[in-house]
Amino acid sequence: MAILNYIPRTTQWAINSLIDDILLMTDKAYPEDSVLDIIKAYIPGVMIVEDDFGGDSSTRGAIFKKSDEFERPLIAIQKNQTKQAKTFSLAHEFGHYSLGHLGDANFMIDKETYDGSEHMQNEAEAQYFAAALLMPTEKFTKLAPYLTVSQLARRFGVSESAVRVRKAWLDGRRTEAL
Ligand SMILES: [Zn+2]
Repeated sequence: MAILNYIPRTTQWAINSLIDDILLMTDKAYPEDSVLDIIKAYIPGVMIVEDDFGGDSSTRGAIFKKSDEFERPLIAIQKNQTKQAKTFSLAHEFGHYSLGHLGDANFMIDKETYDGSEHMQNEAEAQYFAAALLMPTEKFTKLAPYLTVSQLARRFGVSESAVRVRKAWLDGRRTEAL
């Protein structure tokens, strides 16, 4: 099911600036450093695992905050997907975590179900966060005129559809979800 990834400009700026802060604080950069290394540097003690969620392929990922129940924060991503999709899922879950989407909850299971509620807006924001983290504006816009979509995908370790969505966002166009 596709959703329109509409995110107001002001929200985009806020997310861009959050990513800048994360990279500044961790002294990391993408794609020079892996998403895994960036997350580990930003969330102390975090555990990152791959899981098949009991064979439920509609579950893309899950986040557990450090709490009375959980000794360490944990991010789990769906293992049954391509390497590029795993990278994107990881960045997406990192987005939920950094954007405070868990609120007071201790954990969040990320399903591919969108019901047009606040949850859906959070999904769009996590997608934007992931795309902006994995295809940094400056590097991406410098290379984009000279490389094909598939070359850009390879350069940034993402899928071609992720590249197309990032281009559309930078052009200020509305896009279908990944
Ligand atoms: Zn999500």
